[in-house]
Amino acid sequence: MKANYHTHTVRCQHAMGRDEDYVRAALEAGFEELGFSDHMPWPFGGGFVSSIRMGMADLPGYIASVHRLQGAYAGRIRIRLGLESEYFPRYRDHMLRLRDGGISYYILGQHYADSEEDNPYVGIECMTDEGVLRYAESTVRAIRTGLFCYVAHPDLFMRHRDDGEFSPACEQATDMICQAAREADMPLEYNLLGLQSGLRGHFRGYPSKPFWQYAKKYDNTVILGTDAHDPALLADTSLWETGRAEVTGMGYRLTENLKMEE
Ligand SMILES: [Zn+2]
Ligand SMILES: [Zn+2]
Repeated sequence: MKANYHTHTVRCQHAMGRDEDYVRAALEAGFEELGFSDHMPWPFGGGFVSSIRMGMADLPGYIASVHRLQGAYAGRIRIRLGLESEYFPRYRDHMLRLRDGGISYYILGQHYADSEEDNPYVGIECMTDEGVLRYAESTVRAIRTGLFCYVAHPDLFMRHRDDGEFSPACEQATDMICQAAREADMPLEYNLLGLQSGLRGHFRGYPSKPFWQYAKKYDNTVILGTDAHDPALLADTSLWETGRAEVTGMGYRLTENLKMEE
């Protein structure tokens, strides 16, 4: 079954298109299951307002829109309601509340080692080895909560590193993340937005070849995620096939879909 669980909407402030356009693109591309997983809105302290995610006020509209699409496209494509989220221990209750309120799944995108109002973007922090290890520690802590169904772009720590900068700290981070994901039976995502960026000549550090080569010894299950911020990415079936060929070519086991509650 062809499924993608990593889809954004315009609410995150760096995506385009109507919600329904993503569904139409997914249908055209032959997906049988589409999960919306826009960037988690957090109830930040101190009046902090993020510019890279939806605000709390947009959450009811997001939920209502996905519910509407689930009804409108019933029988043609299965639509899931999720969020891509970091794990910030101070806001753990917020995650539990939203899950109880109907968010079916979380994918882990640990863009900040701890909450955004007092931490730098992890890609910048990971330009140092100390930052890489802090990313790995926060990612492992998140995996062990059991709140997430897969790890989005686990190789995010390579965001501002070239392949040649895969240091011993990067190996250690890879060890930590792959072991924790294996123990939790949680797939690692091969990120197709990153793949497309690389194919178009503006590589964003992931998917990182040295990461995936080094990680092979752990034999984690891998899942493709489009990370669509534009419906066109879902419609691009050749990108999907390229990703699939790269993952299986390295000898990884690819899982096609996640089992989750209705
Ligand atoms: Zn995004
Ligand atoms: Zn994403």
